[in-house]
Amino acid sequence: MGAVLRKGEGFNFMARRRGAVCRLCRREGIKLFLKGIRCTGDKCAIERRNQPPGMHRRSRGKLSDYGVQLREKQKAKKIYGMLERQFRSFFARAAKTRGITGETLIQSLERRLDNTVYRLLFVSSRKEARQLVSHGFIMVNGRTVNVPSFQVRAGDMIQTYPDELLKKRIQNNLEMLKDRPVPEWLELNRETLEGKVLRLPGKSDAGLPVEESQIVELYSK
Ligand code: SF4
Repeated sequence: MGAVLRKGEGFNFMARRRGAVCRLCRREGIKLFLKGIRCTGDKCAIERRNQPPGMHRRSRGKLSDYGVQLREKQKAKKIYGMLERQFRSFFARAAKTRGITGETLIQSLERRLDNTVYRLLFVSSRKEARQLVSHGFIMVNGRTVNVPSFQVRAGDMIQTYPDELLKKRIQNNLEMLKDRPVPEWLELNRETLEGKVLRLPGKSDAGLPVEESQIVELYSK
């Protein structure tokens, strides 16, 4: 079973990397929503100063085809907090699956357990969701799953480890994010703090600011 959440232990593990994280958004010139609740407030670095990071702040000039493809891949990687190797293996699996590779890739990214926990609004960022999963606070169909990349399936029940402090924190989070909708492929029971995967997510459910066809082009070279 998962660990017990100690008093004073929070989910916001991003505080230490605040500056660096916002640089990732500034590099891409768009909000990647990496820092939870702060991303929707007026303290967001993109709202305040949408310029590339660095002393000389090189302007975002016209990119080559390769540059465009690279940036689209980087955006997707940053949004889901993945390293190159893991992202590439997701792509390789999508390429072997029947269907449109780009859409399959997006679907498999959305089906990650950490992303599902984030989409259920248990936490306000994917990074926090990843911590919650890897610390053993999330169960799938009654069993602890501590692998953030675990792929959820239609019919899966996502539950939280039965801990009062954890429950309270998630309830606070749900209250804080009450204006944010749960996507249609998921169902959230706010009383029991259980989520159900109603169906597999499609590209439109993800609503990503990413052109997945560019990623396919990049990896197909
Ligand atoms: Fe920072 Fe804004 Fe990006 Fe959130 S969306 S990580 S606050 S720059």
